[in-house]
Amino acid sequence: MKTQVVIIGGGPSGLLLGQLLHTRGIKTVVLERKTKDYVLGRIRAGVLEQGLVRLMEQAGCAERLHAEGFPHDGTLISYGDEMFRVDFTEHVGTPVMVYGQTEVTRDLYAAREAADAPIVYNVDDVVIHDADGDAPFVTYAVDGVPARIECAFIAGCDGFHGVSRKTIPESVRQEYEKVYPFGWLGVLSETPPVNHELIYANSPRGFALCSMRNAQLSRYYIQCSLDDHVDNWSDDAFWEELKRRIPADQADALVTGPCIEKSIAPLRSFVTEPMRWGRLFLCGDAAHIVPPTGAKGLNTAASDVHYLFEGLSEFYAKGSSDGIDTYSEKALARVWKAERFSWWFTSMMHRFPDQTPFDLKMQVADLEFLRDSVSAQKAMAENYVGLPY
Ligand SMILES: Cc1cc2nc3c(=O)[nH]c(=O)nc-3n(C[C@H](O)[C@H](O)[C@H](O)COP(=O)(O)OP(=O)(O)OC[C@H]3O[C@@H](n4cnc5c(N)ncnc54)[C@H](O)[C@@H]3O)c2cc1C
Repeated sequence: MKTQVVIIGGGPSGLLLGQLLHTRGIKTVVLERKTKDYVLGRIRAGVLEQGLVRLMEQAGCAERLHAEGFPHDGTLISYGDEMFRVDFTEHVGTPVMVYGQTEVTRDLYAAREAADAPIVYNVDDVVIHDADGDAPFVTYAVDGVPARIECAFIAGCDGFHGVSRKTIPESVRQEYEKVYPFGWLGVLSETPPVNHELIYANSPRGFALCSMRNAQLSRYYIQCSLDDHVDNWSDDAFWEELKRRIPADQADALVTGPCIEKSIAPLRSFVTEPMRWGRLFLCGDAAHIVPPTGAKGLNTAASDVHYLFEGLSEFYAKGSSDGIDTYSEKALARVWKAERFSWWFTSMMHRFPDQTPFDLKMQVADLEFLRDSVSAQKAMAENYVGLPY
C-alpha cells in the first residue's frame, strides 16, 4: 500500500487530522489498534474550546455538534459553601461547548466512512521505519497477516501509550513530567446535571467536579487516592462523598441514580520535545498529557492538529516546508501554556498529602483573588475558552 500520510491512532486527533486533510485532497490511511466500538466506548473529555468547534466545522463535521451541544457562558467555582462564577462571555466574548469526546469521535468516524477513506482496525505490531529518511514506511499486522504502507509523512496520533513517541531516539527526546499524588474517580449517570454549568469544588475532603454531557446525562468526579479502586465505591458511597464536597444548596439539589460507568484516572502533566523527528509528527496525547482540571487534553490535541494540517496543506499546495518545519515550535508554544493553566487550576483546587497550613492559606488567597479580581477572572476565562491559534 502507498499513501501520502499514514496516521497512527484512530482517536480524536487522528480522525480530525484525517478529515481535514481529506478536504484538501490529501490521501491518508488511519491505523487503529482497537475496534471502532472500543474507541467509542471510552468516556473522556466533554468541554470543547471554540478552536476545536471551528476545526470540526472546517472538517464538515459540526452539524450534530451545533444541534446537540450546549454552549456554556461561564463556570462555577466553590470552596466550602462559598461559590462564585467566572463569566467567559462577559470577559472574553466566547463560550465553550459541552459535547462529549465520544460524540466528536462518532461524527468523525461517520465522515471518514462517508468519504470512503481507509481505516484499518485491530492493527498489531505497528513499527515506524526510516522516519528520519526520505522514504518512510510503516509495518503492522492484522490477525497475524503482515502489511506495509509507504508514505511521505507519518502522524503519530496514538496517545500516551502508543509507538510513535518511542520511535524518536532517546538522545533526541526530552521529556518533562509531573505526577500528581491523587487520581479522579469519575461516574457517568443518567440523571439531570445538578447545575446547568460546571462546578469545580475545592473542599477540605478533596476536589470534586460536577460536569455533564447533556440534560439527562451527568459526569461527576471526586479526587481519590492513587491506590483506591472502583470496587471500593458503591453508587451510594459516591453520591454521599460528592455531596460532602460541594456547597450545601447544590448537594440538596443533586439528583442521584445508578452510575452507568465508573473509573479512576491518575493525574499527570507530561510534555515531550520536539514533536517532530524527520517525517514523523506527534499530535495530541502522544506528545503531551495534562491533568483534566480545566479540560485542556482534547483541546490541546486539536491545536496540534491545526498546526500540522496547515503545515501539510502548505507543503502539498505550494511545495513549501515552512509550516512543517515550524510545527513542533508552534505546537509546543501553545502546549506549554495549556500545561501551565492545567497545573495552576489543579494546584488551586486539590488537597495534596503534604500540604501545610501555609499552603492551604495560599489556596484560599488564590481562590479569593480570582473571586474578587476582574483581571484574574479575565485571565482564567481567556485560558479556559482556549488561547488563540
Ligand atoms: C480516562 C480519561 C479521562 C479524560 N478526561 C478528560 C476530560 O474530562 N477533559 C479533557 O479535556 N481531556 C480528558 N482526557 C484527555 C483526552 O481524552 C485526550 O487528551 C484525548 O483523547 C487525546 O486524543 P488523542 O487522539 O491524541 O489520543 P487518544 O484519544 O488516546 O487516541 C489514541 C488512539 O491511538 C490508538 N493507538 C494506541 N497505540 C496504537 C498503536 N500502536 N497503533 C495504532 N493505534 C494505536 C488508541 O487505541 C487510540 O484510539 C481524558 C483522558 C483519559 C485517559
